[in-house]
Amino acid sequence: MNQSQLTVMAPLNGELLPLKDSVDPVFAGGMVGEGVVVNPPAEPARQTVVAPFNGVITQVHGAKHAVALKDEASGVEILVHVGVDTVMLNGEGFEPHVSEGDKVELGQPLVTFDAPLVGSRAISLQTAVMVTSGESVAVGDTHIPVEAGKSPVFAIGGEAPKAVAPSGEAQGTVQTLSFDVTVLNPVGLHARPAAQLIKIIREHQSDVKLAFNDKESSGTSLTAIMGLATSRGSVITITVTGTDAEAAKQAIEAGFIAGLGEEVGDAVAVEDSAEEDIDENEAPLLATTAVSENILPGVKAAPGLVIGQIYHQSRELPSYPEEGVDVQDELGQLDYGIDMARKGLAALVERLKDEEMEEQAEVFFAHLQMLDDPAISDHARHLITTGKSAMWAWHTSYLSEAAQLSKLDNPMLAARATDVEDIGERVMRHIMGVENDSQQMPENTILVLEDITPSEVVTLDRSRVVGICTLEGGSTSHAAILAASLNLPYLVNVAGEIRNFANGSTAILNAGKSRVHLQPTDEDIAKTGAEAEEEFRIAEAARKDTLKPAITKDGHHVEVVANIGSQADAEKAVTLGAEGVGLLRSEFLYLERTTEPSVAEQTQVYEGILKAMGKDRPVIIRTLDVGGDKPLPYLPLPKEENPFLGERGVRIGISRPAILRKQVRAILRAAAKEGRVRIMFPMIGSLEEFIAVKALVREEEAKVEGLEKVEIGVMIEVPSAALMADVLAEEVDFFSIGTNDLTQYTLAIDRGHPKLAARADALHPAVLRLIDMTVKAGEKAGKWTGVCGSLGSDPAAAAILVGLGVKELSVSVPSLPLVRAAVRDMDLTQCQELAGKALNMSNAKEVRDLI
Ligand code: PEP
Ligand code: MG
Repeated sequence: MNQSQLTVMAPLNGELLPLKDSVDPVFAGGMVGEGVVVNPPAEPARQTVVAPFNGVITQVHGAKHAVALKDEASGVEILVHVGVDTVMLNGEGFEPHVSEGDKVELGQPLVTFDAPLVGSRAISLQTAVMVTSGESVAVGDTHIPVEAGKSPVFAIGGEAPKAVAPSGEAQGTVQTLSFDVTVLNPVGLHARPAAQLIKIIREHQSDVKLAFNDKESSGTSLTAIMGLATSRGSVITITVTGTDAEAAKQAIEAGFIAGLGEEVGDAVAVEDSAEEDIDENEAPLLATTAVSENILPGVKAAPGLVIGQIYHQSRELPSYPEEGVDVQDELGQLDYGIDMARKGLAALVERLKDEEMEEQAEVFFAHLQMLDDPAISDHARHLITTGKSAMWAWHTSYLSEAAQLSKLDNPMLAARATDVEDIGERVMRHIMGVENDSQQMPENTILVLEDITPSEVVTLDRSRVVGICTLEGGSTSHAAILAASLNLPYLVNVAGEIRNFANGSTAILNAGKSRVHLQPTDEDIAKTGAEAEEEFRIAEAARKDTLKPAITKDGHHVEVVANIGSQADAEKAVTLGAEGVGLLRSEFLYLERTTEPSVAEQTQVYEGILKAMGKDRPVIIRTLDVGGDKPLPYLPLPKEENPFLGERGVRIGISRPAILRKQVRAILRAAAKEGRVRIMFPMIGSLEEFIAVKALVREEEAKVEGLEKVEIGVMIEVPSAALMADVLAEEVDFFSIGTNDLTQYTLAIDRGHPKLAARADALHPAVLRLIDMTVKAGEKAGKWTGVCGSLGSDPAAAAILVGLGVKELSVSVPSLPLVRAAVRDMDLTQCQELAGKALNMSNAKEVRDLI
């Protein structure tokens, strides 16, 4: 138990604010712990954070913006976090003076920062001082100036400290003034006037905030001010807080009237009649997938078409008291909650194993282990012994653990924050005795919620839930993968208007078309019902015939092979008739590793996959395709402004050949023992790149005895590679088109963009023309072309690809039966005619209408 008594002093000069005034919602909500905020002035340029008490440094964050220290006598730990979102600066502008384990005295410098630099790049300079060991704090007066190392900011285990007037500069009366100004600048506060405004604000000590149209901005962030999206005539509300608030107000008002460095003319001219007929809310000129107010767009996360009734689910927990009644009783409740959650998880793992869902079972097995990790429960127990309720203690502990995880630079660990929240909520519900409201769901429920966790997907009552719509979420999330494996259509990023439709409203969820149709007419329902039944009938028939050869009606064989990411995928692919593997996404084998696998380990994994496929089925192994949206924990990459245009795919193999060499060596050793392997390289953009990596393969090949020359191919996923395919064709053994990236780079649409998803259609004639160019260039040099991007898995697109001369379709494992059936239903001559027409269409919609 903690009988702590500690007075914490200001770690830097500035204005003392209550923690709830932090602009960081996680801090303001007390999720890290109780505390205060000190808002430093913009000047002087170099400011120093000092130790707020005598203690030991327990952590200096890798990005140098946060320091934790502990009072050895009481065990109280405090985190001093400089600025908001400063972790993004990766240490730029910060100079630490201490390291972990150092003993420090009150007032001793901890870290110095460059206030103008940090202030211009972060959301705010507000510095939070928070208790991470769970104790409550007593805060005295706020909105007063405080002085580093001299003014107390809060006490633990004692009375709130009395204000101590700072000496020197920090002294003066703090005032808050709020006033409106009109933007006179012709195109609003764009970069130049915004920079001028920041300059005026920085000449004062007061903190300045701007508010316009429900948006808020700090007065020192250029991007945030521009992000207010003001225009000439906009009226902005400005709030100034500080000792020189009046002077700052006058200077700001004068700056706006003078035009903030631009010619602005007369204020009266703002009421410009030339804009009278402009509707600020005019609909976008090009439609997204929404075609009416009842048909809302989303992004496909798991395919499928279902009719159901929407049910809005809230994940909010009922309120609970902070203070506990009896320590033993509260500890008992906590143990009960954890125990029940453990039993529930163990039963879930068993159920999933019985249903042969090994991968899903592993996710919850990991949750079970995390539940037994003492980090969260010990903290919660400690809080209970200080008088808190079991619910408050557990909630505080797991939210603080999740918040810490989500701030980590390692994306894999940061993603574990969702798992911690998932486990935490599970325990909360048991302590509170509240079940999920699944009993109230109607049959054929299309669940609508903000976001969904993996455990929620798997524990859904599948006798009722037929589909999922979330307002947030990623289309390649763990939850999405689980939904697909359960055959649950799932749309993410659904337009918020879905909240306007009441529980029980009928809806058609068409994930394949990235839309949900609310309150459809009887006619729409009848049409969709017939469509869904037909889809089911076709899928069943295709599954039955999947081992029949994939030969067109006029006798042309198309190789239908699989895209895989594991040995389990390989085994499944064989049962569904795959004639080989067209794409092994080798990076998927190592998503959970934090250290680089050795050559021997990699060899073993490849051998397993080759064995599963058998010697007669060729396997194309793609070398590591890391970067962009695919991080690999053991291979941390620096943060980049445009990661899809940065060091990605083969570019990493080229800059760090040791990694590539080890992988190639492992592939070749496995090939010598187990079977037919081809190697292909992702993201090749030029001939030099290919020649360099091909030479590396040949060097390694020469070291492996008894190995026939392996075929080496290039993925065509960068437009420059397609445009130069005739040159590349002389050097390659084959081409494989990655339509996902080729579409993203050709149409300049981020492949994960929720709003533009509908326009990123790989059947766009621009993409088809690049495929056509590649196939023709290959044919001329006697080299074959396959397609391994998602377009190949679309049975409707297969005819066009085959018509363009594509020899191999590499498709997702579940799509094998339908694509093989589509090939058997084709006539090559007709496909060629269709492809010829598609190349001359003007957009993707016309091509889709054609097929
Ligand atoms: C592609 O880009 O189409 C492709 C197959 O590679 P990935 O989806 O793994 O980037
Ligand atoms: Mg790709």
